[in-house]
Amino acid sequence: MKKIKSNVGNFATAKLQAKMLSILAIIALIVVIGFSMACDGYEDDTTPAHENQWGNWTVTKAATCIAKGEETRTCTLDPTHKEIREIPIDPNGHDWGSLAQTTAPTYTSAGIETRTCNHDAAHKETRVGSPKPFTKIADFKAWLAVQPGNTAATPYTVKLNVSDLGGSRNIPGSVGNALFTNYTKYVSLDLSDSTITSLPCDVNNYYIGAFDECTSLTGVTIGNSVIGIEPFAFYGCTSLTVIIVASDNGAYTSQDGILYNENKTTLIQYPAGKADSAFTIPNGVTSIYWGAFGGSSLTSVNIPNSVTNIGRSAFNKCISLTSITIPNSVTSIGNSAFYYTSLTSVTIGNGVTSIGDSAFYYCTSLTSVTFATGSNITDFGHNAFPGSDNLKDAYSTGKAGTYTRLVNGSTWTKQP
Ligand SMILES: [Zn+2]
Ligand SMILES: [Zn+2]
Repeated sequence: MKKIKSNVGNFATAKLQAKMLSILAIIALIVVIGFSMACDGYEDDTTPAHENQWGNWTVTKAATCIAKGEETRTCTLDPTHKEIREIPIDPNGHDWGSLAQTTAPTYTSAGIETRTCNHDAAHKETRVGSPKPFTKIADFKAWLAVQPGNTAATPYTVKLNVSDLGGSRNIPGSVGNALFTNYTKYVSLDLSDSTITSLPCDVNNYYIGAFDECTSLTGVTIGNSVIGIEPFAFYGCTSLTVIIVASDNGAYTSQDGILYNENKTTLIQYPAGKADSAFTIPNGVTSIYWGAFGGSSLTSVNIPNSVTNIGRSAFNKCISLTSITIPNSVTSIGNSAFYYTSLTSVTIGNGVTSIGDSAFYYCTSLTSVTFATGSNITDFGHNAFPGSDNLKDAYSTGKAGTYTRLVNGSTWTKQP
């Protein structure tokens, strides 16, 4: 009986248990739902259940060349919700020590520099350093004096870090003078770290420029701190093939090795050693600087209609130049502009009003001069032409037209 009673009691208990179980199940369900709504398994008593709103991944531990790194993102709704992920080893993640010279540079060859990784001493990097620069012109001069002679094809490439070139080429302590007096030693000059405010020209002494007729100068590199290039700086440098100007130089620019002012309105220097036989001056150039083509071996030069001025000695000693046409845009031709060339004929545009002294003097082959229709030259320089006085007289009455003379003749005759 007790057993039955007990059974009855058990039945009642079972009913109660069933009721309890269903309540527990509901509670459990609520807990499960609530739990799954929280951030990826994090229990959270304070933040309402939400979907994570992740911020950006940020590197919290950078990877190195030997160790993985970590990056983390944080839930914007609850900063305790975080996710972390690995960053793979970064093969470039070295921690370099300082560069040390392992092969010393010389004036003509770059040294080798090495640095070691602080994470792993087996990680090393080497690089070619810079040649040792000359910081004093006297050092350069003394060094050059003891070098063997070489060729224009195998120049000594040297770097000069100076703030002053020591004056024009005829000053004994100048860089130009060092080159000029060591003319069998070809040199390419790197001035890219030089800060020079003047490449001077000695106007009181035959207009001698900084590297005037330094025939062993093969190339020049100019940095952003070289300004003040005065006339004839590179005049008659017959081995000079290239002038390079840093793109951030605010005063000058170069194209195809030719030196111009910054906005390319003035052609300053055509390197006289350039091998080309013909050259067309870019349209837009208005001025051909003093001595610009001096000593070059060009046989023909095309002058565009933008040019208004041909400077002093611009084509002086261009001994291969045989003919030239000066467009109507040109108004003045400087002193000695075509002095000592091989011109046989020249056409002078009708815009020219002034021809400088000796402009075509010593052009012994010049036998034909054509003044374009409308020509009106008011300033006919002294010895402007061979037989100049005679031509000036003939022109004063004949004006436009073609005038000829015999070779070595001093009488110009206007052609009908
Ligand atoms: Zn969250
Ligand atoms: Zn390393």
